[in-house]
Amino acid sequence: MQIYDHPVFKMACQQFDLVADRLEIPANERDRLKYPKRSLSVALPIHCDDGTTRVFEGYRVQHHLTLGPTKGGLRYHPDVKLGEVAALAMWMSWKCALTGLPYGGAKGGIACDPRQLSAAELERLTRRYTQEMIPFIGPQVDIMAPDLGTNEQVMAWMMDSYSVHMGYTVPSIVTGKPVLLGGSLGRREATGRGVAYLVNRAADTIGLDISKSTAVVQGFGNVGSVTALSLAKYGARIIAVSDAFGGLHNPKGLDIWKLDQYAADKKTIVGFPGGEAITNEQLLVTPCDVLVPAALERQITGKNVAKIQCRILAEAANGPTTPDADVILEQRPEIFVIPDILCNAGGVVVSYFEWVQDLQSFFWNETEVTDKLFRILETAFTQTLNLSRKQKLSMRQAALSLGISRVREAKKVRGLFP
Ligand code: NAD
Repeated sequence: MQIYDHPVFKMACQQFDLVADRLEIPANERDRLKYPKRSLSVALPIHCDDGTTRVFEGYRVQHHLTLGPTKGGLRYHPDVKLGEVAALAMWMSWKCALTGLPYGGAKGGIACDPRQLSAAELERLTRRYTQEMIPFIGPQVDIMAPDLGTNEQVMAWMMDSYSVHMGYTVPSIVTGKPVLLGGSLGRREATGRGVAYLVNRAADTIGLDISKSTAVVQGFGNVGSVTALSLAKYGARIIAVSDAFGGLHNPKGLDIWKLDQYAADKKTIVGFPGGEAITNEQLLVTPCDVLVPAALERQITGKNVAKIQCRILAEAANGPTTPDADVILEQRPEIFVIPDILCNAGGVVVSYFEWVQDLQSFFWNETEVTDKLFRILETAFTQTLNLSRKQKLSMRQAALSLGISRVREAKKVRGLFP
């Protein structure tokens, strides 16, 4: 399918094909599993504050509908393209199947730089996008959540726009919204907490004492900051972090709680006293025990993978490692990889909890949420590790094999209509 042509979609297809070859999935089943079921592209005109009208591109891709509604984040970033969104939707499918959630994968995006828009412009853009998506989404059809460049406020505007259209309040149309509007306790922290939990499990597996470890985190948004704070709570020393504007390095450890407050105030980590400036390229090759890419795709590539110096690579971002880098990682057994579809699954797991709570109008406390989250992650981690050991596969191959096989099996038993 030409319409999804994009380097990130190619990367997702390459990963799929490797697993499909190994599982000996016949050609006539592959396209059905690989290509998105449906997608919608929209033009989004809004009035800007300066009186002009601007048109933004928006997308939503629903990868498969075999196991339930589709679920996935909404991304605001200047580079958003249909093919990138399709890749992210495909990864969501394997992630939901790996963790046993009753969803297919989806993803959405608007090509915009949210930092260049005023709050009023961002609100108009979000509401217009939601309006355009109304025939395509619904609590039993497709449920959105925050991703890169979006947050609880964006979800609140979406929920309000959808509810106004329906004529009654529909909290279950989005997850990751404010708790006051039916959001789940622990959702904002879920992805980062999950990453830190799995880093702990990986550390146990390779005999690394997390309380004496060092960690480096790329990206200091929702996922990166909560991961850094959670790892610091486990006793890890966070020696470098970065965001889109630059990085900070302090071999003695950064005061991550103060840094979190600073970043909340200044909207960047740059300028924080207590660390030396470092580039994102340097950050990724800084010697450490735990390396956490928590920003964009394709950060660990054929060019820098030989230089990374960590014992655990925890892929908090989606698609941070390219397939050519993967080939080299497989020849570096000293690095334990927690692949993205497992590592950052905490977000969609607690989004699922939020959707369930909204549908029942019955809310759980934070301990219940976090306990249930860790139980699901534990099962997914153990199943992935066992398969990787049993069949001598990389952790990525094992995780993808489990996710893809479950979707394949579901399609098989449902059959093909008509
Ligand atoms: P966010 O917008 O809250 O934060 C992104 C961070 O990355 C910001 O600090 C930004 O400055 C930084 N960044 C952007 N470009 C960068 C670059 N070139 N180099 C270094 N840093 C850069 O987004 P988020 O929700 O934290 O998402 C981060 C990643 O985690 C994405 O890949 C997203 O798909 C993935 N993810 C998010 C969730 C979630 O619940 N939010 C769940 C699963 C996966």
